[in-house]
Amino acid sequence: MRFPVPIEGKLVKREEACRICGSTTAEQVGLVDYWDIKTSRLVKCPECRHIQLDPMLSDTETSKGCLAYYIEESLRTGHEELAKNCVRNFRRGVLFGNSLKRKSILPQNILELGPGSGYFAAGLQFVFPQSLVTVMDVNPEVLLSNREHHQFKTIQGIPDNLMAEYQGQFDLVIARDIIEHVTNISAVLININRYLKPGGYLHFITPNGHEDVWKHYLTAVFEGKPSQLLINHVNYFDGRGLRELLAAKGFKPLDYYTFTFKTTLKGSGWRKSRRLMSPVSHESGPGHFSSGYFINEKAGEVSTIKFSKQEILHEWYITEKARWVTALYSRFQHGTIFRIRPEFNLGHEVYGLFKKIQSIT
Ligand SMILES: [Zn+2]
Repeated sequence: MRFPVPIEGKLVKREEACRICGSTTAEQVGLVDYWDIKTSRLVKCPECRHIQLDPMLSDTETSKGCLAYYIEESLRTGHEELAKNCVRNFRRGVLFGNSLKRKSILPQNILELGPGSGYFAAGLQFVFPQSLVTVMDVNPEVLLSNREHHQFKTIQGIPDNLMAEYQGQFDLVIARDIIEHVTNISAVLININRYLKPGGYLHFITPNGHEDVWKHYLTAVFEGKPSQLLINHVNYFDGRGLRELLAAKGFKPLDYYTFTFKTTLKGSGWRKSRRLMSPVSHESGPGHFSSGYFINEKAGEVSTIKFSKQEILHEWYITEKARWVTALYSRFQHGTIFRIRPEFNLGHEVYGLFKKIQSIT
């Protein structure tokens, strides 16, 4: 038996061609219900090895599921936890900035796609105070919050659509937990290439697709029934396939590794979770994971947090002291010591820092 155990399924005809390589055949590796909104399946492309939804979600289906997920997640995450996440992201931004400095990479013009609270970019700007940060998001509330609390420049848009006026503007594009969500990954990578100046950098993190798919795979193989896709991932990347895809879009790896093995070691990354396996419900009420229940009945309970820097970040974080303490911390941080090649498809998260070596016209 090969290890890790490969995810393989029976050959089927795809409903939609592979969005990466255009192949029309695939191996079916999972049956999934996207909330109660759409029933689809996960297919693995024999050519490029990536796993995608087939058929894909429409824009309306995506936004409905995203909204339901946002509400459900907000209700699961307390106020204090939200604040902690901001601090954590700020620290990650500082660590990332320090790692760039060690490579003598000093970005001036930075674009972040899908910035969330904006604290990762704020941490990065802490390391590079002269840098200009622009953020792109589809949600006007996210943009407003980023403008108000971090004074970032904002662009309303989705990464799939090229905003021609920003071509060749940036030294660094950041896409953390973004590329697994986009319908047309090839278009997104081409657009990122175009936004970058020659020799610019792309930083991303994305889940290890194999670990993400495993639960659905088990349910499909052993029980022959669909599992729930309660998150909005439509791409499940293969370590080798992702490297080859980036190479085809003009990028060369500087850092490419998998980190965070907690779920893998404990086995929870591969186990079926009860939440995921609970049957899809079209009813509206407590205990039912129906999109309508969250959107219509629970939305009012979502508490928002004031993303104000001074309130959330402990003074410690925004003083000079933070520089050397976080630099020291980065040496011992879980995940930066233990790294493996994404090609093994083990672990939870894939980290990438790539350099643009070729312009896509
Ligand atoms: Zn393909």
